[in-house]
Amino acid sequence: FDDRDGMIWFDGALRPWRETNVHVLTHAMHYASAVFEGQRAYGGEIFALSQHSERLINSARILGFEIPWSREQIDAACRETLAASGLRDAYMRPLAWRGSEQMGVAAPKSKIHLAIAAWEWGAYFGAEALAKGLKLEIAPWRRPAPFTAPTASKAAGLYMICTMSKHHASDHGYDDALMLDWRGQVAEATGANVFFVKDGALHTPVPDCFLDGITRRTVMGLARARGVEVIERAIWPEELEQFEQCFLTGSAAEVVPVGSVGPWRFEVGALTQQLMSDYAATVRGHVLNR
Ligand code: PMP
Repeated sequence: FDDRDGMIWFDGALRPWRETNVHVLTHAMHYASAVFEGQRAYGGEIFALSQHSERLINSARILGFEIPWSREQIDAACRETLAASGLRDAYMRPLAWRGSEQMGVAAPKSKIHLAIAAWEWGAYFGAEALAKGLKLEIAPWRRPAPFTAPTASKAAGLYMICTMSKHHASDHGYDDALMLDWRGQVAEATGANVFFVKDGALHTPVPDCFLDGITRRTVMGLARARGVEVIERAIWPEELEQFEQCFLTGSAAEVVPVGSVGPWRFEVGALTQQLMSDYAATVRGHVLNR
């Protein structure tokens, strides 16, 4: 991914893609002192940009470091990066991390860096998944408790078990994994939140140990605007067989139907399809036609 044309915003200036390197003694690489965002641009506009920049700043604060740029400056840097990419539709990745000035677990004097890249990224799970629904397995790893890890931060370190779970899923013929939390309740997928449909209502887990996604909140608003009841509650895996539909939400994934989780099957139903199209219209700034 490093050997390509393009520009990456790095500590205040756009630099050629191939030259945005860091030292091997970067603190973040050894101790996971890094936080990031994932956002999409549609038709040249970055959806929910300020919410993403704000979350990036908060994620860093939770890990105990302060990004040396304001929310407005990060917003502007993201727009500058998008413009330099020449893309109208893009995925964007802001990343903040502790540098290589100090080695050891404690590194209070390390410099905090910020980089932002933009690239073309079509449907996260591919076009077929959108029609048929994803095949998920229950992950071998569980989301940690909020007293075990900084679960409200979009921290790079929390993705170690996501990568392992996603690799396990692909090695066994699945598209992704559904992760349980430390109590054994349904939590989320490896890079997206999860929703279920039953008797016309949406059910989704309480985000008390995983990311309360920006897409999740957007989709909850879209559902309520259509008069659909949204219930946030503890969901146990034993309940999966009672649900009729299931879908994932995320900035990269958008709204994507789930066809099965392990042995349990779901239909790509009308409400899922409605929310997929409402979300697609919303991110492109269209007023919904109800
Ligand atoms: N959970 C995880 C683990 C994620 O990586 C993401 C994607 N950022 C989400 C949930 C969804 O968050 P959002 O809708 O803000 O992209």
